[in-house]
Amino acid sequence: MTYRKPLCTCGSPLRIRERKESVIEYQITQDGREGRMTSEYYTDTLKSYLICPKCNKVFDKDEDEDLRIIRGNWRSNVDIT
Ligand SMILES: [Zn+2]
Repeated sequence: MTYRKPLCTCGSPLRIRERKESVIEYQITQDGREGRMTSEYYTDTLKSYLICPKCNKVFDKDEDEDLRIIRGNWRSNVDIT
């Protein structure tokens, strides 16, 4: 089956957007302030979805039978947080 890249309802090619959480750890200084940063990393992906770079519509990220990315259900007219 011929694959077609997922398009928005406005005709623009959709992009995948992933959300991760950044985790940052700090020491505490002698005078009770936030001190030196000791580690920083990102968690696994919390959310992954398709978004239109032109009009910001959000769709579910689905796969076809060959595991290729296709547009799923419409979710929102603005980015979900
Ligand atoms: Zn669009």
